[in-house]
Amino acid sequence: MKTDSWQQQLKNRLTTLQEICELNGLPCPQGSDVSQISMRMFVTPYYASLIEKADHSDPIFAMTVPSPEEIKNEQNSCDPLEEEKFMPVPGLIRRYHDRAVYTATLNCASRCRHCTRRWQIIKNACSSWRETLPKVLDYLKDHPEIEEIIISGGDPLTLPDDEILEIISSFKKQGVKILRLGTRMPVTCPMRITDDLCQKMKAFSPIWIQTHFNHPKEVTEEAKEALGKLADSGFPINNQTVLLKGVNDNTETLEKLFRLLVINRVRPYYLFQCDKIPGTEHFWTPLETGLKIMKELRERLSGIAIPTFIVDRPALDGKVPLSYATSKENEIVFSEI
Ligand code: SF4
Repeated sequence: MKTDSWQQQLKNRLTTLQEICELNGLPCPQGSDVSQISMRMFVTPYYASLIEKADHSDPIFAMTVPSPEEIKNEQNSCDPLEEEKFMPVPGLIRRYHDRAVYTATLNCASRCRHCTRRWQIIKNACSSWRETLPKVLDYLKDHPEIEEIIISGGDPLTLPDDEILEIISSFKKQGVKILRLGTRMPVTCPMRITDDLCQKMKAFSPIWIQTHFNHPKEVTEEAKEALGKLADSGFPINNQTVLLKGVNDNTETLEKLFRLLVINRVRPYYLFQCDKIPGTEHFWTPLETGLKIMKELRERLSGIAIPTFIVDRPALDGKVPLSYATSKENEIVFSEI
């Protein structure tokens, strides 16, 4: 199964708890009907095979299978990051002067229960890239100050090679200087990172890869191979981790994860406080938890393995880096944690 092509992985995605349990030879918990959930569950056989226990104490299970709390709270789904307000044209989210995010697709290899784009996914609020891209390119023509585009989703690498390359080359032709590609494929479907794809994308360097590992169990041999291919092809790789209660909200887990990432040539870039998305309440941690973890990580890890701890407050000041130390009258003041 791990030797399947990425297309087979996507085609054979699992959509029920029973299928996940059968795949892993686990007893299926009773009374866990996830079929009614608005943000549908699906997962590649590869990622599902990392589940060792069919309950929410298993980190991969918790990120994949809706919890009873999610089912209870999901009706309030909205756009807490107010991304719709920041869309000058459909598909483009512009919150900063010099850069913007392009949503190429809402499809993903596996659906993460903590997903920030839940509101868009539930509303299916994304047209095909063939419809949105021409208007986005027109907008960029009138706004040359935008030098950087983050091609995001969903997961843009769910698109076939020729389509993703057409999107990349269109932005390059438009004069975009820096491209970032946001993808969780190295985590949920590492077979997507083929030699062929790397070779073709290399022609459009520089492209920064932005991936999303949350737990050391995700750094498998297959994931390492995918990261190696990207790094060997010259793509710088940054990782964004979301701090999730019960999944990775302790220093030991994140220390292990960040060490593994650095060994595999991935820079731990951001540690995000989980966004306040209705339906994800069970993943939220107090700010103090993240600050305490960051303080302990600083004592254990070298600077290259330390991400910036970020809270996203779009309506106020955007991404706010948090630190446990500030200054007062030219003296360093450590916050009480
Ligand atoms: S891969 Fe990203 S966009 Fe897709 S469900 Fe996960 S967090 Fe959301």
